[in-house]
Amino acid sequence: MSDYREMWQSLDMDLEKHDELCEVLPKFYSDIYLSQENRPEGMNYYNFVISEVHGLRIKELVNAKAENQKVVGTFCVYVPDEIINASNGISVGLCSGSDFWIPDGEKYLPRNTCPLVKSAVGAKVSGTCPYFQSCDMIVGETTCDGKKKAWEILDEHTNMYVMDLPQMKRKKDYKHWKEEIFEFSSELSKLTGKELTVENLSDSIDLINKKRETLQKLYEFRKLKELPISGKDALLITQIAFYDNIERFIEKTEALIDELEKRVKEKVSVFDKDTPRILVTGTPMAVPNWKLHHLIETSGGAVVCEETCTGTRYFENLVDNTGDTLDEKVEALADRYMGINCACFMPNNGRTDDIIRLHEEYSADGVIYYSLPFCNTYAIEAKQVMDALEAKGIPVIHIESGYSLEDAGQVKTRLEAFFEMLRG
Ligand code: SF4
Ligand code: SF4
Repeated sequence: MSDYREMWQSLDMDLEKHDELCEVLPKFYSDIYLSQENRPEGMNYYNFVISEVHGLRIKELVNAKAENQKVVGTFCVYVPDEIINASNGISVGLCSGSDFWIPDGEKYLPRNTCPLVKSAVGAKVSGTCPYFQSCDMIVGETTCDGKKKAWEILDEHTNMYVMDLPQMKRKKDYKHWKEEIFEFSSELSKLTGKELTVENLSDSIDLINKKRETLQKLYEFRKLKELPISGKDALLITQIAFYDNIERFIEKTEALIDELEKRVKEKVSVFDKDTPRILVTGTPMAVPNWKLHHLIETSGGAVVCEETCTGTRYFENLVDNTGDTLDEKVEALADRYMGINCACFMPNNGRTDDIIRLHEEYSADGVIYYSLPFCNTYAIEAKQVMDALEAKGIPVIHIESGYSLEDAGQVKTRLEAFFEMLRG
């Protein structure tokens, strides 16, 4: 990485501590990603993005801020990127996937809080994440209890805005979410100085629909018998979609898709034919949480799909952009977002239906229900989902694991036994 120290300093970062973080990531990435054989050439772009994750992309954000754009950090796939983009904002998904930030998070939160929440708080209070430091506004949501309390803590350190997400899906809840989107938009326009209009929202919906369509096309390759791309690589691409420049991300991913088409014609596969195909469902995996995918794919399995917020929940379903008025367009946004099936909703049968459908669409052999420690929402929903899968004869195991690699051996043993059973 070139020397970005001056830039980091201007973002009020703790440079010494940040150096420690920068020392760990390259080796970690190289062990997990660069060790893979037979990767598509197009993955070089994503390697580059990660190698410059605290450098070039931050420089782009800093430059955009100098041109009067505003950087808006988000944590959840319910926060509508379309509104941020239409209002001259740049949306960045704030990664909270690193163990590095947990000790700082634990200075503010009880140990028995989910690692995603602890890592998010730790990243901000430690001043070691240039994305957090670049944000002009951070948008939280009232999804789970851990997050709600974390926003109160973060509010003392940054410009927090919280959207009130309903927890049921009745008609009045859709209406409420639509109102919340309007309120968010007017708050945002105070920050950016740009009002939401039919034209800018329409353009923004088209652009973000296009990004989602690109990811949909990418995932089509994971339905094939011969897989031209690993699950690890697909996960990385979806994670990068949360913070990369949208147009460039689409262009690079379309180029990769062309390469994958060629690979398919040439019958290039990154896994042996009898490798068990795995659908992962559960809590999101924020950068650099690549642990489960890495363990699966080095224990004899292949991840073919993720029913998670860093998977299909992020890009399935497009926004209907046919409405003529602002009201119709925001209503279409509310409809699309309320269609996401997160465990923080009740009832949430739609998620089980999605898992069963995706299991079939991706010809999965088995399902891994993944939850982060202390995530009650997903851990409690596990029983209901697993019972439904078992009733359909779909093999499933529940793996609860955090960011630390301490339990890697144990998880690997369980995975190997599961894959053995699937092969049998
Ligand atoms: S799991 Fe739920 S709360 Fe978490 S990012 Fe996804 S939708 Fe949001
Ligand atoms: S993983 Fe669970 S506990 Fe953690 S933020 Fe998401 S829903 Fe909340």
